[in-house]
Amino acid sequence: MECRTVLEHSKALRGKEYSSLELTQAMLERAQSCASLNAYITLSPEVALKQASTADKLIGKGKAGPLTGIPLVHKDLFCTKDVRTTCGSRILDNFISPYNATLVEKLQQAGMVMLGKANMDEFAMGSSTENSYYGPTRNPWDHERVPGGSSGGSAAAVAARLAPVATGTDTGGSIRQPAALCGLSGIKPSYGRVSRYGMVAFASSLDQGGVMALTSEDCAYVLQAISGFDEKDSTSVNQAVPDYIHSLSEPISGKIIGLPREFFADGVDKPVSQAIRESISVLEQLGARIVDIELPNSAAAIPCYYVLAPAEASSNLARFDGVRYGHRASEYSDIVDMYESTRSEGFGPEVKRRLLIGAYVLSIGYFEAYYVKAQKLRRLIADDFSKAFEQCDVIVGPTTPTTAFPIGQKTDDPVQMYLNDIFTNSANLAGLPAMSIPSGFDNQGLPIGLHLIGKYLDEATILNIAHQYQLHTDWHQRIPEGYA
Ligand code: GLN
Repeated sequence: MECRTVLEHSKALRGKEYSSLELTQAMLERAQSCASLNAYITLSPEVALKQASTADKLIGKGKAGPLTGIPLVHKDLFCTKDVRTTCGSRILDNFISPYNATLVEKLQQAGMVMLGKANMDEFAMGSSTENSYYGPTRNPWDHERVPGGSSGGSAAAVAARLAPVATGTDTGGSIRQPAALCGLSGIKPSYGRVSRYGMVAFASSLDQGGVMALTSEDCAYVLQAISGFDEKDSTSVNQAVPDYIHSLSEPISGKIIGLPREFFADGVDKPVSQAIRESISVLEQLGARIVDIELPNSAAAIPCYYVLAPAEASSNLARFDGVRYGHRASEYSDIVDMYESTRSEGFGPEVKRRLLIGAYVLSIGYFEAYYVKAQKLRRLIADDFSKAFEQCDVIVGPTTPTTAFPIGQKTDDPVQMYLNDIFTNSANLAGLPAMSIPSGFDNQGLPIGLHLIGKYLDEATILNIAHQYQLHTDWHQRIPEGYA
């Protein structure tokens, strides 16, 4: 039963095939027997069993919604009142939030059961989950390889069927890239669609919460539950959320798919580009029309992102000073020494690198040259998308240039690591919804992801196309060896 999707569990729970308590217990046991993946930072059996028995009561009374009693794992940067929130960092190792993130609260109200908190790159900075204070997560498809990042614990947990669904966050690709590398469906909604309240901030103008699951249909159900205006988040969008589930079944004939020349250039591994081309012909067979488009400023996305994200991070992470949250150095001579020692001990090397870059690009002498210039580039990148969407409904390409790479391969070369985001971070810069779905395997049996970028606030169309694709392909049904 562990390998089922959210909707399959939902049906089984309501049909009394098994109870939420039985399902939750099985999932917790499975997590323990797969501990070597290091997908979890914290398992929360007490909370889970309590929530499961509450869910069972609702199911018994016939008051269950589609998500009631379904176990899930949260990325460990969503604040949870009853379980610590570490953000993958030593500095928050002992931090317990006094409140739940809005996303956590909404899923709890929908009746979902929290199994625990997933491993991640420290403060969501990374593309491989190797930057966690709690050690790297392993990819269930090949334990010597990374699961992607920064939501790598969430991705590994779902791929190994430790949970049918997980939450993640995506600042530059951290839902879509691990979804691609682990053979999952993952969606980053439009900026503002899902509340950021209670999500530990990395780069506030780019961060978005979202979902990773086995199917795009499951993504639609969970996204429906977490979307919507939240007065506690001033950047939350006050607009009605469309019925994502209803639009899944619409035919996609006549939909126009834009292929950006820039996403099919050199540098994409052959098996990846081949799988993407084959996926595009599946979409064509389903009646979609293909047009060539241009995103001429794509090459600027990585440099632009890696100026703006660190700049925002250096401001956001100033709050971790040993006074208000988490870890404090045990020895210091005065208050300044306390700040310095706390931060030196509490942050890992990648976070320190970002904080230095961020402080540098915001400094008075370099602000115009870097930060202001990056903001201008951001506008050009967003304008490219607006123009492209005059010609098409959705933009398609590879999610990543390669499949999962070996643990340790890129840790000494930050630029190589940053290049993982080459196709993903422009959607964050433009605030657009985007998704990755399984679209094949390379010759080593590693999953490949198809990337779909939608118009602002049009999650429905990418979910619809993804679902129709999945009705005609079975890549999303493959299970890594040893986890069936
Ligand atoms: N890999 C990117 C980074 O390191 C994106 C991270 C994210 O989306 N959280 O910043």
